Amino acid sequence: MALDPKLRDDIIAAVDKSFDAQIKFTQDMVRHVSTRGNEHTMQDFMFRAMQSRGYTMERFEMDREALARHPGSGAWDDLHSHAPVVVGIHRPREEKGRSLILQGHVDVVPEGPVNMWATPPYEPVIDGDWMQGRGAGDMKAGCASNIFALDALKSLGLQPAATVYLQSVVEEESTGDGALMTHLRGYRAQAALVSEPSAETLTRANIGVIWFQLEVRGVPVHVQRMGTGANAIDAAYRVIGELRELEKDWNQKKGDSEYFRNIEKPVNLNIGKIAGGDWASSVPSWCKVDCRISILPGTNVEVAKREIVDRVAAFTRGDAFLSNIPPTITFNGFQAEGFVLKPGSDAEAVLGRAHESVFGKRLETVTSLAYLDSRVYVLFDDIPALNYGAISRGVHGFDEGVNLPSLKKVTTAAALFIAEWCGVEKIAD
Ligand SMILES: [Zn+2]
Repeated sequence: MALDPKLRDDIIAAVDKSFDAQIKFTQDMVRHVSTRGNEHTMQDFMFRAMQSRGYTMERFEMDREALARHPGSGAWDDLHSHAPVVVGIHRPREEKGRSLILQGHVDVVPEGPVNMWATPPYEPVIDGDWMQGRGAGDMKAGCASNIFALDALKSLGLQPAATVYLQSVVEEESTGDGALMTHLRGYRAQAALVSEPSAETLTRANIGVIWFQLEVRGVPVHVQRMGTGANAIDAAYRVIGELRELEKDWNQKKGDSEYFRNIEKPVNLNIGKIAGGDWASSVPSWCKVDCRISILPGTNVEVAKREIVDRVAAFTRGDAFLSNIPPTITFNGFQAEGFVLKPGSDAEAVLGRAHESVFGKRLETVTSLAYLDSRVYVLFDDIPALNYGAISRGVHGFDEGVNLPSLKKVTTAAALFIAEWCGVEKIAD
C-alpha cells in the first residue's frame, strides 16, 4: 500500500530541512581516518550519534573463532581490524510493520599519495554539488543517510512501527567480516537497505571476490652472476601471466550468468600491491604480490580457490626455476561469493515506489563488479538486501566525492521506504 500523500510530502520536506545538518555530520565522519584497523574513533562517533538519538546500543568485537567456522568469512591475518561493530536498535511501541536492517560500513581504503589529491583527503571540502574526501562517497554519506532518514521521521513526531537495526560495520573493504559478524550475532530482519553509492540504482547482481597473496622466492646473487641466480620478481611476472590466463578462462563462463553475460569483462584480476627485492644490484630473492580476483555468482569459493592453487602449481611444474622453488599462495582477505537479488520482492516494490516519488522515474537495476556487504543478508539471512545509494566519484581513487543533490534525493527515498516498509507510529510523549 502506497504512502499517504500528505505524509510523503511531510517526509520530503523534513529531509530537506535537516540536510545541512546531514552534510555537516558526513563531514565530521570524513575527518576520521578510518582505514583498516583504525576505525575505533569513527565507531565511537557512530555509537554516540546513535545513542544520543535514543537507540538501544550494542557494541561488540568481531569473534575470530566464530567467523572462522562460517564459510562466508574472510581469511583473518595480522592486518585484520579489531575495531568493534556498532548497532543501534529501535523498538516500536507496537510491532506492526516489517523489520529492517539499515547498514553501512565506515572503513575506507588507503588514500594513496596525498599529493595526487587536489585537496587533503581527510579535510572534506564542498565544491558546488560535491563533497570531496576519502570515504565521502564510499560510504560515509550512506552511513549518515541511514541515520538522517530516521531523523526525518522523528522530526515529524513519528518512528518506524517495526524493529530497525542500524548497523555500522568495519572490514567491508577487506573481508566482509563486519557484516558477517552482525549475522553471527543473530540480528535478523525482513529486509536490509545498504546505502552504498550505487548511483541511484538498485543492485540486482553482484560479483564474488577472493583475495590472495602470491609469494615467489629466489636465490640472491650479485647481478654480474645473474645467470646462476633466480630472479623472484621476474618469476612473479611469469606467474601473473598465468593468472591472466585464468582470468580469461573465468570470463569465458559468463554466458552461464544471466546478469553478467552482457558485460564485456565481468571477472577482473587486480594486481593490487607488489613488493620484492632488497637492493638494485642484487638479484631479488623474494617477491610478494597481493591479488584480488572476482568470481561469478554461483561459483563456489572453495572450488575457485582450488582452481587458483592448481593452476599456479601446474604452471610452476613447467618452469625451470619455479619448479625448484614453487611459489606459495596464501588466501588473506575476501572469500566471498556473489549473489543475485531475486526480482519481485515486496521490499523492492516499496523501494521502487519511494524512488519514483522522488525521482519521477523507475528504479533501474544494475550488476555490480565490486564486493558488497549485501551478500551477507542475501546469502545467509535469505532476505532481500537492497543496495541503493547516491552518485559518487573517485571511489578507491583520488578526489573521491559524493554528489550532494543526489544524496538528498536518495536519503528522501530511503526515508519514504522506511515509512512504508516498517509503517509509522507516533512517538510516545
Ligand atoms: Zn563501500
